[in-house]
Amino acid sequence: MTENNTEKIETQYDYSFEYIQKKLEGKKDSFGMLMKEIVRTGVCTECGTCAAVCPVLEWDHVTAQPKLTGKCTGCGICYNQCPRTITDPYVLMGQFGTGYVANTNIPEVIGGQDGGTVTSILCYLFDEHLIDAAIVTMKDPSKPWHPVAQIITSKDDAIKSSGSIYSHSQTVEALMDAIRQDFRSIAFVGTPCNIDAVKKMFDSPTGMLKYFMRAHVLSIGLFCMDSFAPEAIYPFFEKDGIDLSKVQKMDINKGKFHVYYDPEAEPIKSYTIKQLDKFKSSSCNFCTDLTAENADISVGSVGSGAKRNTVFARSGLGREIMEDAAEKGYLTIEPFNAINLNAVLFLAKLKKVAQYNIQKRKVFIVRDTVEEEEPRIETKPEIQQDSVKSPLGTRKFISASQTLKEREKVVTLSLTNTIGYVLEDLKIRIVTVEELFEKRPWITTIKELFPFETIEIGYPLDVPEGQPIAANILVEASTESFGKLFSRTFKVAPTEEKTK
Ligand SMILES: Cc1cc2nc3c(=O)[nH]c(=O)nc-3n(C[C@H](O)[C@H](O)[C@H](O)COP(=O)(O)OP(=O)(O)OC[C@H]3O[C@@H](n4cnc5c(N)ncnc54)[C@H](O)[C@@H]3O)c2cc1C
Ligand code: SF4
Ligand code: SF4
Ligand code: SF4
Repeated sequence: MTENNTEKIETQYDYSFEYIQKKLEGKKDSFGMLMKEIVRTGVCTECGTCAAVCPVLEWDHVTAQPKLTGKCTGCGICYNQCPRTITDPYVLMGQFGTGYVANTNIPEVIGGQDGGTVTSILCYLFDEHLIDAAIVTMKDPSKPWHPVAQIITSKDDAIKSSGSIYSHSQTVEALMDAIRQDFRSIAFVGTPCNIDAVKKMFDSPTGMLKYFMRAHVLSIGLFCMDSFAPEAIYPFFEKDGIDLSKVQKMDINKGKFHVYYDPEAEPIKSYTIKQLDKFKSSSCNFCTDLTAENADISVGSVGSGAKRNTVFARSGLGREIMEDAAEKGYLTIEPFNAINLNAVLFLAKLKKVAQYNIQKRKVFIVRDTVEEEEPRIETKPEIQQDSVKSPLGTRKFISASQTLKEREKVVTLSLTNTIGYVLEDLKIRIVTVEELFEKRPWITTIKELFPFETIEIGYPLDVPEGQPIAANILVEASTESFGKLFSRTFKVAPTEEKTK
């Protein structure tokens, strides 16, 4: 290669680096994000692209990672070339025709969740006789802040349904009821996972709604970052002094969860989302859709400021409805460029890559034998009892299995949290039952057992040398808040013994 050629290549390279730098201005992607999302999570393919495009990055063959050799400007070029990052706006937010910043003009709706756009759309649809029913989610009158999906048929009920409840709602059940009741034109409001269910039921070859030609469903999707298990988060709120019956509003804003007794006043309590992470519904860890990518109209708050909504009209019908509702005075809309798109893209990306950060603990190292408790004198072994009565009914919180390491004379008990939220301070008690007496109690407390996480506990058997292994092991698990969750007696015997 001649000197001239080298110069030419360098000039072109500099030009494209600067050009892309300008294009990426204002975005928060950087080398730090690349390390956090891709390299430290183990998602990196070691292709070396990041190092190839940046003058201050080189490939470190020892650590098999990119390494800085100079000052990083945070331009984000490396992040945007990496094959594992998600950067295309349409991949992050789905396809849409146009977007708006919107807020309600209906006085009774002002003070709804954000801009009151969803409720205003429903009011418009009822007034214009474009729908005969809508599926919404309201608060269960018998259980404060528990969601119940409802079929509504009037504007008044639409107004009553405004506001967000940050928990899964069984909206599709209500939709099926509405279809069975012969409602023909239905607006369906739901989180992205709810919208996906409806889409699948319409589009998939085996979809249940595919053949309901009479039902027209307009889907209005809510942006959604996460939802929380009521059985886990509400007891935590109550312990923290919140009276749920007095709560008027909950909202999530800039990474904080706020609880209000008076929506116009300061929140009574605020938590970082990180603090509440353990109460998050397990499914939300696997969810990659922030903006309800499959809805006709998607509505959220991020990107549009207080008391307003960011709206994407994804179908022609969605666009017509938005614009006609604005023309008829239900809504005020501002055009697409009023949206702070970078804020939406940033959150959408956090959600798409969240699944890279899931690191499941599979095995707990439980401390060695602790004789913390006097053996109970007499107990009746509970045989093969899988689910035990708890204050929440017969829901199965824990499943368990055992394997025997014959040579070591150790039985390994695997206990799995089978519900969708974390079990805190889980007390596990293991004893050997001989006739009616308990011996050698082992007690341990697991601080947190995450949803679907399994712990393994090795329990040594007391079998004299030369004697065959035969033992009944009683395993019990309880928490302070739920009481006894699990109790089962395992008959431990060598494999050939069992098959006899
Ligand atoms: C679980 C959850 C998480 C969310 N996370 C985010 C987020 O991270 N970022 C963001 O920008 N926006 C988020 N949103 C959306 C936001 O809270 C508002 O719903 C949205 O901005 C519309 O505001 P609005 O003023 O138009 O709503 P409103 O006019 O007050 O109408 C709200 C509608 O939501 C319905 N609804 C309430 N709770 C549920 C529920 N659990 N399931 C299904 N429908 C429900 C009601 O029936 C009502 O029709 C979330 C919403 C939910 C339900
Ligand atoms: S200077 Fe730009 S391309 Fe280089 S490491 Fe920093 S963010 Fe990445
Ligand atoms: S470009 Fe992405 S995948 Fe390739 S080496 Fe760099 S971080 Fe890894
Ligand atoms: S985060 Fe995903 S799975 Fe969880 S409620 Fe929202 S849309 Fe559904």
